Amino acid sequence: MKVYNFSAGPSILPKTVFEQAANAVLDFKGKGLSILEISHRSDDFDEILQDARQRVKALMQLNNDYEVLFLQGGASSQFMMIPFNILPIDGTAGIINTGTWSTKAIKEANILGKAEVVASSKDKGFNYIPKNWQLTDGLSYLHLTTNNTIYGSQFFETPVVNIPLVGDMSSDIFSRPWPFNKYDLIYAGAQKNLGPAGATIVAVKKELLGKTKRNIPSMLDYQKHIKGRSSFNTPPVFAIYVCWLTLQWIEAQGGLTALGNKNEAKAKLLYDEIDRNSLFDAYVQPGDRSIMNVTFTVTDESKEADFVNFCSDKNIVGIKGHRSVGGFRASIYNAMNLEGVTVLVEAMQAFEKQA
Ligand code: PMP
Repeated sequence: MKVYNFSAGPSILPKTVFEQAANAVLDFKGKGLSILEISHRSDDFDEILQDARQRVKALMQLNNDYEVLFLQGGASSQFMMIPFNILPIDGTAGIINTGTWSTKAIKEANILGKAEVVASSKDKGFNYIPKNWQLTDGLSYLHLTTNNTIYGSQFFETPVVNIPLVGDMSSDIFSRPWPFNKYDLIYAGAQKNLGPAGATIVAVKKELLGKTKRNIPSMLDYQKHIKGRSSFNTPPVFAIYVCWLTLQWIEAQGGLTALGNKNEAKAKLLYDEIDRNSLFDAYVQPGDRSIMNVTFTVTDESKEADFVNFCSDKNIVGIKGHRSVGGFRASIYNAMNLEGVTVLVEAMQAFEKQA
């Protein structure tokens, strides 16, 4: 049965990746062992782990000033791990607040030290990306969320600042060409464009580390993980394996330029229909609309559940909006192809006709 999965994460992954992962669960590399039972210290897995780190670095076009880690604890753990590692004891983190995830980053930074909201789009329900803001002096770094998974807004430009820049790229990692090297620290939970839940990638510029004068618990210390070549403790072997497969799929698609073009075309198709169809309204203002998470509402709220059911009859799943926004959210990550988006657009048109 063909199901069109628009879930926000965990989410759709390439079918070939599912197949390769399934095979490796049964028999990894023809060795008669499952990927689930091999040692994380085995040569076979270490090769994959080190290759995956290298592939992330290559896709981001980062030089050897950076290290890439596969960690656990989700992107949410990075909200505290980042201040632990790069916020000096008496320092202040600057954070651009564009939604739920940056709000959490602010909360966690404030637990450990101080956070200052540099700019916010809270005044309009986070339906835009703040612009024309100024940095106050003395901030230790600036944190932003490049793509706001819940509200559906996205940065299309990277701010130019003279302090270290930190990007939460959980929901738009590897969806388009991006100036990764303008960031000093990048992190992303894997469970959207990269793999299953359970692995989080971090790319960090080494010169940033070791300067806070904090005592950092070992598991939260990037330097410990770097020294351990991302195997300081048992890493999430299977999740990393699936990320490794997906990284190769990304390259086989033609890399970030090809994926970026494809993702733009998918998003345009969907936003054009939302703007045309009298039953629906886009949530985010033009210019700031995410090409990964397309959020929209229905003009007649009483029809909201009807549309979800209408879609479900057509095997379109995962489009119910996040509880904090309502309406709908179609997540159109890398592995969703234009055909899937076309099926959704046709459902929107058919719903309009029968309304
Ligand atoms: N940041 C962003 C942008 C997210 O979309 C999410 C979750 N989807 C998180 C952080 C938190 O990730 P996790 O659930 O892996 O902790």
